[in-house]
Amino acid sequence: MNFHVLTLFPEMIEQGINTSITGRAIEKGLISLNAINIRDYAGNKHGQVDDYPYGGGAGMVMQPGPVYRSYESVTEKIGYKPRVIYLTPQGKVFNQSMAEEFSEEEDLVFLCGHYEGIDERVLEMIVTDNVSIGDYVLTGGELPSMVMIDAISRLVPGVLNNDVSAEFESFNDNLLEYPQYTRPASFMEREVPPILLSGNHPKVEEWRRQQSILRTMERRPDLMEKAELTKQDIKFIKS
Ligand code: SAM
Repeated sequence: MNFHVLTLFPEMIEQGINTSITGRAIEKGLISLNAINIRDYAGNKHGQVDDYPYGGGAGMVMQPGPVYRSYESVTEKIGYKPRVIYLTPQGKVFNQSMAEEFSEEEDLVFLCGHYEGIDERVLEMIVTDNVSIGDYVLTGGELPSMVMIDAISRLVPGVLNNDVSAEFESFNDNLLEYPQYTRPASFMEREVPPILLSGNHPKVEEWRRQQSILRTMERRPDLMEKAELTKQDIKFIKS
């Protein structure tokens, strides 16, 4: 899986993604990161990539030319037109099922805006998906693109040491994950739930499922409407 990030701050992306699990995935060749500096495609010797908004108003707008040329550098390299994600507070809010869908792609381009955003014409020409990471406004698209790259990468086979850990976690079946415990069994007089020490795996699974349901009902009741519940789950909820 190849991530191409069009940005004015490539060093921010490289430092963030070349670390920890995603960094190891790059070393192993499971994912690749191509952070492209839009300023390299400015087309003028001052490296200017923004200008005042037509019609007036505060702030600066990123010009279409440098963005388009940086995008072309990717299509020329890979030989086809991949999906282009524009990080924008005006997009569809990112979630786990979108991460799963994007993880099927061979190449993904992330377009990071800055200042007041990007000239609308180039967005109309190249963007296939407008994605937001939440209803708040950040200074740039770099952090949102790193959030998405992280969430997508961990779904690429082999990126997590144990593939099972991506299978059973929050948002599978639209339920939150059960609570986790590790050693010591007793910590400041707080004990690990005894069932987890019992060695009885079917009972542990049943307890975890019930904890997932209880936790989702308490913390994210909105998810319960979409949760994929079994007959046994429904019986537990009614009990
Ligand atoms: N003027 C724009 C608006 O009101 O929609 C906001 C521009 S914002 C200051 C600059 C850039 O940050 C955006 O072009 C976008 O790339 C990024 N950005 C800000 N908030 C974001 C969010 N919640 N999700 C994704 N990207 C965001």
